[in-house]
Amino acid sequence: MKFRTVIGLEIHVQLSTRTKAFCSCPADVFDLPPNTAVCPVCTGQPGALPVVNKQMVDYAIKLALALNCRVNEYSRFDRKNYFYPDLPKGYQISQYFYPLAVGGYMDIDVDGTTKRIRIRRLHLEEDAGKLVHEGDSITQAKYSLVDMNRCGVPLVEIVTEPDLSSPKEARIFTEKLRSILRYLKISSGDMEKGALRCDANISVVDLERNVSSNRVEVKNMNSFRFIEKALEYEEQRIMEALMRGENVEKETRGWDLATKTTVSMRGKEEESDYRYFPEPDIPPIVVSKEEIERLRSSLPELPDEKKLRFVQVYGLPEYDASVLTMDEFVADFFESCVELTGKPKETSNWIMTEMLREMKELENEELKIKPEHIAELIKMVDQGEISIKTAKEIFPEVFRTGKMPSQIVEERGLRQLSDERTIFEIAKKVIDENPQVVSQYRSGKKSVLSFFVGQVMKQTRGTANPKLVNEVLRRLLEG
Ligand code: ADP
Ligand code: ZN
Ligand code: MG
Repeated sequence: MKFRTVIGLEIHVQLSTRTKAFCSCPADVFDLPPNTAVCPVCTGQPGALPVVNKQMVDYAIKLALALNCRVNEYSRFDRKNYFYPDLPKGYQISQYFYPLAVGGYMDIDVDGTTKRIRIRRLHLEEDAGKLVHEGDSITQAKYSLVDMNRCGVPLVEIVTEPDLSSPKEARIFTEKLRSILRYLKISSGDMEKGALRCDANISVVDLERNVSSNRVEVKNMNSFRFIEKALEYEEQRIMEALMRGENVEKETRGWDLATKTTVSMRGKEEESDYRYFPEPDIPPIVVSKEEIERLRSSLPELPDEKKLRFVQVYGLPEYDASVLTMDEFVADFFESCVELTGKPKETSNWIMTEMLREMKELENEELKIKPEHIAELIKMVDQGEISIKTAKEIFPEVFRTGKMPSQIVEERGLRQLSDERTIFEIAKKVIDENPQVVSQYRSGKKSVLSFFVGQVMKQTRGTANPKLVNEVLRRLLEG
């Protein structure tokens, strides 16, 4: 049977503004004690009036422009009414009828090809509070507490068209979005802290019978890996239903970390009625064309443009350019290195493999490595002072201590041995000690050369120049 998977995402991004969306409480509440960043406005006291945060609007417009959206000169807030204990006002301020921006797209790299994912809309809204269940378990808790710090924290919601066709694409899309958020410096993009939250809608089409399954919404995926895992699980579950000639419920499911499955959260039979209506306490947002253009010209060079420049200016393969431009810091680091080395591809190899591997292990520590370190490593290898193997061996120490490679090489006596006379003497000794292997070589078994090379390397603790060792040995054995 042939299937096609259809996925669309609804992503919430927390904006890193100084204050909340409609009041002057701090917006970064992650580490604050419960209910310490609240005021009459964000807790919905009667008579308190919201005031729009200009920084929030500017940040959202920047994001809309970075995602190639059309920014509406007129947009408006609406009330989305529902009851929940963490929502003291009884409604959430959102944008429903007139969103801030529509009709954008983002290109993603999937297995070496570029795919365009359309963005349907991008709008502003406020976050709700948080319930804290006793003992951390909803079912066993004797009571639950409400923390209202998060009420009124500014969010942008991004809704894609159902253009994604695999769980992997959904993960790549979200990763690329985080990269853009960080370039723009408008959100931390930290999924584990809830600053980037992804809900996915998935359905599967049976291409032979030309029928589509119902659509399932998957929530609670708080890491990139879980986005992919949860959707793979769900894709499989839907396909199996189709193969049995059945369908799945139209419902909302949550990723359950403990069982690595999705579990039903609520049916979607009756659409909730939020009775949206215009927010009477906030005037419409009117942005002039000039203001939009001013924000557009303030955008930094974004990953796609930077990638293209890296290919054109440095002659890098697309793959390298793509990896190096994911993170702006890494991209800048690369450019500073190349200024010193003049060798883009060698520099890229070091950064993409050794440096990114070490960076992954780092936890909030200060980075000690500087472009000078990489430049010196490359130079020492090029000039035959150390082998590439030695260079890779000492890299973790360079990275962690910030010592110059030359210093580590001196301290550990790793300088490459390129003195022909010394190598000759060691080679001669090895040959004299192994007459049987020598006669094997001389009777045509040339492969034993590697035995001699290994012996010489051992005696020089791996520092002998391998090319020279091979030459000298061959000369001795054949001469
Ligand atoms: P709803 O009104 O139920 O919220 P929307 O049309 O607003 O539905 O779409 C919500 C999300 O569902 C969007 O991200 C959209 O891309 C996605 N979506 C729409 N149709 C499908 C489908 N057939 N399969 C998977 N996702 C879909
Ligand atoms: Zn407040
Ligand atoms: Mg919707």
